[in-house]
Amino acid sequence: MNSQRIYLDNAATTTVRAEVLDAMREVAADAEYNPSSLHAEGRRARAVLEDARRRVAAALGAFANEIVFTAGGTEADNLAIAGIAALAPSGAHLVACAIEHHGVLAPLERLRERGFEVTLLPVGRSGHVDPDAFEAALRPQTVLASVMYANNEIGTVQPVARLAAIARERGVRFHTDAVQAPAWLPVDVGRLGVDLLSLSAHKLGGPKGVGLLYVRRGVELAPVLDGGGQESGRRSGTQNVPGIVGFARAIELAVAERQQRAPVAAALRDRLEEAVRAAGGRINGGEPRLPNVCNASFWGIDAPQMLIALDLAGVAVSAGSACTSGSLEPSHVLAALGGGPDAPAAGIRFSLGTQTSELEVERVAATLPEVAGRLRGGSRETRGDWVDTDRTARRWREKLEQF
Ligand code: PLP
Repeated sequence: MNSQRIYLDNAATTTVRAEVLDAMREVAADAEYNPSSLHAEGRRARAVLEDARRRVAAALGAFANEIVFTAGGTEADNLAIAGIAALAPSGAHLVACAIEHHGVLAPLERLRERGFEVTLLPVGRSGHVDPDAFEAALRPQTVLASVMYANNEIGTVQPVARLAAIARERGVRFHTDAVQAPAWLPVDVGRLGVDLLSLSAHKLGGPKGVGLLYVRRGVELAPVLDGGGQESGRRSGTQNVPGIVGFARAIELAVAERQQRAPVAAALRDRLEEAVRAAGGRINGGEPRLPNVCNASFWGIDAPQMLIALDLAGVAVSAGSACTSGSLEPSHVLAALGGGPDAPAAGIRFSLGTQTSELEVERVAATLPEVAGRLRGGSRETRGDWVDTDRTARRWREKLEQF
């Protein structure tokens, strides 16, 4: 990336860390063979793969045979939802929250079309699931509850350990999409008490196209991909051994550095939010939140307009859901926060990375009021009307009401 540019879209993806590239290079000679082959080359690739699996498992407090490598977070989410549902009787019930990633929402919607019952829990203005409402939503027919650890758009952190304990008491399997968490929050599967947990390497300074699903021992899961029976029959397809080695290094680094990095990011994020408010912005989502995410709406300015103006000023951010590839669609997450017809329906997400510097944040803080003022035709007012040009958000609100 051009050194003059400031990358604040780390929740969309991170660049691959130098240590990760080094780790991938070190094993390159062995990792290029098929780990299922029986010859010496294949056995060496298998040894590299299983070493990476042990290291990933150790970082999560899991057993190695509880780790199923996938081609990313989306696949892990799909495997958790579809894999549990495939073994459930028709008419079974699943619970999730309204601000889940599409990797969870889309398979749930597909199940609903096939006759499953799905409850999407509201999250209120702050963007959090209420444990009492969660408990009340569980039914005798509920086979799975899926509540994300940290939201990718507004950064809100859910009380996953508490929700998982409630689910366990009621005999309901619990999945969490923890894709945004490991760089900033502890991810120990024992402490969280979850049955299933999704991760993705590219949010942690690892390569794209690599992820995992943690599957607690004893949890039965039908495969989504059938074929050669790799990953103990739970996910067929030749493993991406170099990518998995990079993932292992990335997660080890994330766990080792988290305690030191998180407060630094939180302080930078707070400074950024001061500047956001000074530019007539309002922060979407309440505490607890990830320390690196700030989602803001600016009165009188449409989010895509702001994104483009910041891009031209050298600052890379996102608007709406970054994972809805390349589109500037407003977000189902902000729609789920509600707040009435006057609430802003689109936001700009600034997401800091482990490499984000104070100087960069100060530069953005200086740019924001100037950009916002220009987009408002010169007005320096910090309060005004929200732009709600947002047909997609309205569509989402209607959709949520159907659940
Ligand atoms: N879940 C969350 C919370 C995410 O933020 C993302 C990616 O943006 C995903 C799942 C999907 O991960 P992947 O890009 O590895 O498929």
